[in-house]
Amino acid sequence: MKATGMAGAGNKDKAEVHSGAVQLPKAPGTYALILRCDAPDRRQVGALGSIEIRPGYYIYVGSALGPGGIRARVSRHLRKAGKLHWHIDYLRPNMPVVEIWFAEAALNLEHAWAEGLRQWDLTGIPAAGFGASDCRCESHLFYCDARPMLEHIRERLVSPVRQRTTVRSVTPDHRAF
Ligand SMILES: [Zn+2]
Repeated sequence: MKATGMAGAGNKDKAEVHSGAVQLPKAPGTYALILRCDAPDRRQVGALGSIEIRPGYYIYVGSALGPGGIRARVSRHLRKAGKLHWHIDYLRPNMPVVEIWFAEAALNLEHAWAEGLRQWDLTGIPAAGFGASDCRCESHLFYCDARPMLEHIRERLVSPVRQRTTVRSVTPDHRAF
């Protein structure tokens, strides 16, 4: 799907710059949050129970096909307070989102992305079933001890029907959401 819906940016190229006031598209799509963890901890994650977290990076995959699309969903993830609804809500405190990967697509790609990340030799699975209560994926959360780079995984983030999707990366600027 073509990049559209960069509302407010006024200039599509500008909206793709990797820093500053990034405006995520309101279009439907699939995203991955890259979270940084600086200190070991234990978190109670809903019905999954207590999970151990360690310094490094976590990648969480989701999709946003409803109203407001990627922008609305990721904005919600970036806000600090709020009801604990998704598994990722339990991890967010003290774990800043340092980067967001996203692709505009009406088709749900999150399970294909989860599979691509599962097969990546740089990732591990910190908690089986995380974010995957309603699907057959082993997890929608992955751990990397070094910061994951989109250019190293981009080719694996494809759709199951090999639809060509453009995966882009932005750094969050909380003022922009
Ligand atoms: Zn899944």
